[in-house]
Amino acid sequence: MNRPPAQKKVALKFHRPMIGAAERRAVDGVLRSGWLTTGEQTVAFEEEFARYVGARHAVGVMSCTAALHLALVAYGVGPGDEVITTPITFSSTLNVIEHVGARPIFADVLPGPQTIDPADVKRRLTPRTKAVIAVHFAGIPARVDELLRVAGRRPILWDNAHAIETRYRGRRIGGLPGASAYSFYATKNITTGEGGMLTTDDARLADRVRVLRLHGMSRDAWKRYGESGYKHWDTLVPGYKYNMFDLQAALGRTQLRNIEPMWRRRREIVRRYDRAFARLPEIVTLQVDRRDRSAYHLYPILFRTETLRRSRDELLQEIQSRGIGVGVHFRGIHTHAYYRKKYRARGLPTADYITTRTLTIPLFPAMTDREVRRVIDVVTEVVEAAR
Ligand SMILES: *Cc1c(COP(=O)(O)O)cnc(C)c1O
Repeated sequence: MNRPPAQKKVALKFHRPMIGAAERRAVDGVLRSGWLTTGEQTVAFEEEFARYVGARHAVGVMSCTAALHLALVAYGVGPGDEVITTPITFSSTLNVIEHVGARPIFADVLPGPQTIDPADVKRRLTPRTKAVIAVHFAGIPARVDELLRVAGRRPILWDNAHAIETRYRGRRIGGLPGASAYSFYATKNITTGEGGMLTTDDARLADRVRVLRLHGMSRDAWKRYGESGYKHWDTLVPGYKYNMFDLQAALGRTQLRNIEPMWRRRREIVRRYDRAFARLPEIVTLQVDRRDRSAYHLYPILFRTETLRRSRDELLQEIQSRGIGVGVHFRGIHTHAYYRKKYRARGLPTADYITTRTLTIPLFPAMTDREVRRVIDVVTEVVEAAR
């Protein structure tokens, strides 16, 4: 019997990075230069990135996690201190608090943008509260003015892993009071494979982080084998090995040149998704305040499972089995094993609601119109079948 050849099902991955000839040339240039570690490329990327996000200072590091960790160390947060943060984030936002021996305090999020609720932060302040970590979730700015008011003189660390292109009330956010941490992980809006950046308008903080990121060596120790010959260096504090190096920076500089066209493409995809899912009452999508600019990093959808015959995990399986890559951003970190057992956090109804209902569909600039259409069709069919 002649059967027709099986239709090859092309699966759509959750993310495809945009790496082209320019990126390959940039990396090749560094490989040929003979200088592979932290150097001129890193300095140039720091300057260009600071300008783009509107900050006075930028310090290149290995990851957003490293930037957050160094900021906590630089602010002197340690044992006996409390740090208030959101459970709707990646685990490293919490892990860094554990790294410095402080106690994380979870505050609930706002239902619309899923960013930390300033009123709940206020309720959870104690004399031990040393800092707040806020996340601009999915690229939507957190309630910046209210958070600054509530935090008072305590520093806020802004987790900007999703938020390179974000603007709050028309303003860029890289230089907000406190410190901002960015990620260039493989799936983020621009990527260096792995990488991160700390930005701030506070020159003293930037200097401290610069020393801490490379073994606690005296400033500019990376120049110790430079053209002007060997120089003695000193260890000022027992620092970390978190420095960004030039291969990453060269990639990052190339990606940064393309950041706005990539952002516009994601905005276009988001508008299509918004239009399509507005027709499905069982789905709730994120709303961006008209005065703000989202970086459009993720497209999470909330399934109102109380109106459906399927759980989020069943819907997730369905969508995935039809060849669409998905993610979950996020199951509240207060429900993850370590944090659940250690803190048993309560009183987070919105985070709990999100934890069991959220699912993220693909959103990246290399998506074709056909792929966008397919995601919409599959999600629509799966939801309609679960009514
Ligand atoms: C990706 C991510 C991080 C961690 O970034 P790395 O660069 O991988 O350390 C931190 N916070 C949030 C919200 C993230 O999405």
